[in-house]
Amino acid sequence: MFATLSDRLADTFKNLRGKGRLSEADIDATAREIRIALLEADVALPVVKEFVGAVKERARGEEVSQALNPAQQIVKIVNEELVEILGGETRRLRYAKSGPTVIMLAGLQGSGKTTLAAKLAFWLKEQDKSPLLVAADLQRPNAVNQLQVNGERVGVPVFAPEPGNGVGDPVAVAKASVEEAKRTLHDVVIIDTAGRLGIDAEMMKQAADIRDATQPDEVLFVVDAMIGQDAVNTALAFQEGVGYDGVVLTKLDGDARGGAALSVASITGKPVMFASAGEKMTDFDLFHPDRMASRILDMGDMLTLIEQAEKAFDQEQALKAAEKLTSTGDFTLDDFLQQMQQIRKLGSMSKIMGMLPGMGQFREQLDNFDEREIDRIQAIIQSMTPAERENPKLIDGSRRLRISKGSGTQVSDVNQLVDRFFEARKMMQQMAKGGGVPGMPGMPG
Ligand code: GDP
Repeated sequence: MFATLSDRLADTFKNLRGKGRLSEADIDATAREIRIALLEADVALPVVKEFVGAVKERARGEEVSQALNPAQQIVKIVNEELVEILGGETRRLRYAKSGPTVIMLAGLQGSGKTTLAAKLAFWLKEQDKSPLLVAADLQRPNAVNQLQVNGERVGVPVFAPEPGNGVGDPVAVAKASVEEAKRTLHDVVIIDTAGRLGIDAEMMKQAADIRDATQPDEVLFVVDAMIGQDAVNTALAFQEGVGYDGVVLTKLDGDARGGAALSVASITGKPVMFASAGEKMTDFDLFHPDRMASRILDMGDMLTLIEQAEKAFDQEQALKAAEKLTSTGDFTLDDFLQQMQQIRKLGSMSKIMGMLPGMGQFREQLDNFDEREIDRIQAIIQSMTPAERENPKLIDGSRRLRISKGSGTQVSDVNQLVDRFFEARKMMQQMAKGGGVPGMPGMPG
């Protein structure tokens, strides 16, 4: 699902790694790549334009967070914009205050409506609701029977016109079903309506008539994610012809691109409320824009890490360090220690590392990571004199021996720390030259 988009975006972010600051050219190049990624994933052009425009503006703008490096910032912005085009906050079903909640499904034939009706019924049952399925698709010869079979599978009764009553009037059936639900104490009514292979006026009118007759609490537009750009046109046609409150995406398991489906919420202004990704009754759930966005970004828990970094980040301290660094080009062991302590605030090292994408394969090493490492570094630095911390070049052989004794470590530990410090300082100075705020060593990017 959305594999093309995920891969493309991952490549884009990779190109940003290690950059201290984003130049105008970097932002343009990144925006171009994101644009291509979205277009390749079949996202509708107006949505792409808006998306890329917003990312560009925000990447340039003031709001960029001091706590994050440029790659992280772009990931964060892209993530938030993705959540936005997917409809923002998770939109839950609205239940009627009194009497049965009426949910009406509309969509093209083959969109997966009938299957979805049963999945939704099953899902509602799990929420302790008592749904009634209604077969108001009297167009497709086998639709009633299919709903009955599915209803039986999930143990939900189906209200259908009596066999032998001719073709039947779907509007009358739908209307009667609500009365039936009241009588039999079902608290949710799910009305499956007729679809056609293409949009047609008569079908729209029938759906609109059912809507008027039953006054649904929710009208859901069901759309097959595999139909590509047609999803957008169909969504607009149904919006005009019937109107709906939310969108249900089906067959998300089938399309590696799926971008058209991503465009529907943005173009119609109606949130995606449910998603279905398989033929099993359980392959169905509420749609969470935020979870879907992080899945598309395939960032493991990177986003959680970004959030935590922002929370733990002590802006004042970092600004002071940045100021010092840019004015004097200095980065001392005290600054190094402070940065280590900031990382500490994020949680244990193995937890931090475990949140990074692609780290799953290093699980074993992570589990074996010695959390006392940071304590050791701290002890070593604290065994140094202020002059040594300020100017680590002073730390010669005999001083190293003294420091190792003072901190209860080996000389090799002190050597290693000093080497690492010089490396970090080089990086900091490069960043200072680029004008960026120093990030935290060891952070992804
Ligand atoms: P309707 O005409 O809109 O009522 O569509 P159906 O419910 O009959 O579904 C059409 C076809 O799509 C059937 O073969 C379903 O098994 C299949 N289908 C429905 N939902 C999904 C889904 O989420 N994933 C996949 N792979 N197939 C689905």
